[in-house]
Amino acid sequence: MSHYVGRFAPSPSGPLHFGSLVAALGSYFQAKSQHGQWLVRIEDIDPPREMPGAASLILSTLESYGLHWDQSVVYQSQRHDLYQQQIEAWLQSQRAYYCQCTRKQIKQSGGFYLGTCRHRHLTTPHDCAIRLKVDDPIHAFYDQKHGKIAIPTQLAAEDFIIKRRDGLFAYNLAVVLDDIDQGITEVVRGADLIEPTGRQINLYRYLQHPEVSYIHLPLAVDEHGNKLSKQNHAPAVNNHNPKPTIMQVMQFLGFDLPVDFQSASIEQMLNWGAQNWSLTQLPEALNQPLTSFN
Ligand code: GLU
Repeated sequence: MSHYVGRFAPSPSGPLHFGSLVAALGSYFQAKSQHGQWLVRIEDIDPPREMPGAASLILSTLESYGLHWDQSVVYQSQRHDLYQQQIEAWLQSQRAYYCQCTRKQIKQSGGFYLGTCRHRHLTTPHDCAIRLKVDDPIHAFYDQKHGKIAIPTQLAAEDFIIKRRDGLFAYNLAVVLDDIDQGITEVVRGADLIEPTGRQINLYRYLQHPEVSYIHLPLAVDEHGNKLSKQNHAPAVNNHNPKPTIMQVMQFLGFDLPVDFQSASIEQMLNWGAQNWSLTQLPEALNQPLTSFN
């Protein structure tokens, strides 16, 4: 039995598009190539950015693409108690503190938060964010594909937000608590999430839990170099005819597909992908224009 546990963790801000399918298939192949489990977690902690119905749309797309998850789907919206408990423990131990500073003030002081509220000992949580004290900045981390990736000094040193002023839990906190709780051993996701990785490693350290290993996949960009995302209205993938898109995503991930591949079933395609997956074939570039595959 393999101890590998991977996951795909979409935010339900819209239907799956090509870029999100790259993360879904990349994490799936990496898990299945090691006979591991592949879990799905819906990251619905930011209602203002969500689209009603997107979570079930995402799950039905995964199903029609033959991407069957192990274990039940976890929804972050149902896990607020876990997040809140950890925040309270950190407030108590003074690892976390309330912060009143506005985005505008931070911008005026150079764009990075300089720890202004660290020593204020604010006790009235009204209209405050909660930040984690970063005493041991993470200046670099190891990526299984890209090797050592450096994190800009000011970003690494910043006391970052774990609960927002508007009362919503921060993505970094939820993702790490859930990955630990679900026993995830490796995170495979898009290169747009390289930046917060140092913060997430900080959280593992303060939780005294060994961090997962990381693989960041090339990010699909348009011809102007912009990330394909739900925010810039990347088209949803076709649920009724998955095979051409699966093939396109596999080529994007560096597979050299057999000539008669289109005649295989979806299941055969995915099995072949899991068997032939290797990190060496995965493109080095962190950004990859999608147009070169059309
Ligand atoms: N929910 C995040 C997103 O959709 C991904 C989180 C992760 O893979 O760490 O961008």
